[in-house]
Amino acid sequence: MLIEDTAIKSTDHAVDALKKKQFFKLVCGASLTDLHMIENLCFVFTLAGAHMIDLAPKADVIFAARRGVEKGISYSMLNPQSSILNPVLMASIQLDKDPHFRKVEVDNSLCDVCGACVKVCPTEAFKIPSSKSFIYSVERCFGCGICPSVCHVSALNMIDVKPTPRETLKEMLLLGVKVIEFHFGENVAKLELIWDEVKDLVNDLELISFSIGSELLTDENIKFAANLCYKLAGEGIILQCDGVPMSGGIEDKYKVKKNGNNGIKIKEKCIHVAKIIQEEKLPVYLQISGGTDYDSYSRSLEYGVSINGVAIGSFARKLLMPYLNQLNDENKLIEAVQVARSLVDSATRRNPGEIKTYG
Ligand code: SF4
Ligand code: SF4
Repeated sequence: MLIEDTAIKSTDHAVDALKKKQFFKLVCGASLTDLHMIENLCFVFTLAGAHMIDLAPKADVIFAARRGVEKGISYSMLNPQSSILNPVLMASIQLDKDPHFRKVEVDNSLCDVCGACVKVCPTEAFKIPSSKSFIYSVERCFGCGICPSVCHVSALNMIDVKPTPRETLKEMLLLGVKVIEFHFGENVAKLELIWDEVKDLVNDLELISFSIGSELLTDENIKFAANLCYKLAGEGIILQCDGVPMSGGIEDKYKVKKNGNNGIKIKEKCIHVAKIIQEEKLPVYLQISGGTDYDSYSRSLEYGVSINGVAIGSFARKLLMPYLNQLNDENKLIEAVQVARSLVDSATRRNPGEIKTYG
């Protein structure tokens, strides 16, 4: 599959990390479009040694991420003691309706400015500057789905983004994006058909990932989906084993469990997906996501699941939020990088602070 195997690829160091089971992906979010936040997250996680950064499939988001990565690389050149990787930018595309692709819409005529949503939004999308004014920054919404559950007047509603896989993939290829993660929600039965819409375009990619979610699929369908993704895209793909999407660092009471819990703790759902797929013995890379945090890698080992990598989104953004507007202060930047690095180290099992350089 994909680009000639002998060619040097921008993804070589990421694949090397996957092979060594030391891969870390920062998830900015398939719906996060706040360019300032994205640029700063990419800046900090470049310096922290992330291998890959997962982004919304929009041109301005890709440009903001590139600015952040370039800032990180320039900073490391001025500070030669901090050698870094050049993280690969990945875009997430929905093949069919998927919960990662949605935003909240506010009905201002209903809102009484009670402030409940302000307290729960992990990316501070809502502000109440005075007792009567309410500001919503739609770019900051990454679609976690928490706030509608706390709004007592039902002023907040989740709105799905319509899937346009072929057009979106074409745009990402024009922008030079070499890695795509495909999301197909619960419609595994239609996946083969939808794949036909994009399969002539994927040959220009270096790496393909599919997100397979436990909140959307039964155990049987997880197995079926993993085998089908392998059949469609071949060996060497990443299968993102998604637990409870966009739930890292969020209180359990707000996490919506669509497919029931089956006695599995929320943080362990991603490991459950990886375990099911591992039993299929496919030549693919298993990477967990959806409720991941510091302990996800070690937790997977406890359950006898040998993953190739960890992706962290909501938990990472939550940790970094206090720093993102203060990165011009070098002390704050150093603190932010230390926080981010501790997260990357937990997944890559590096000695704290040790970052390898790749050519
Ligand atoms: S709480 Fe979640 S769904 Fe609501 S605005 Fe914030 S990010 Fe969006
Ligand atoms: S929770 Fe609902 S009513 Fe309260 S401030 Fe938010 S949108 Fe307005």
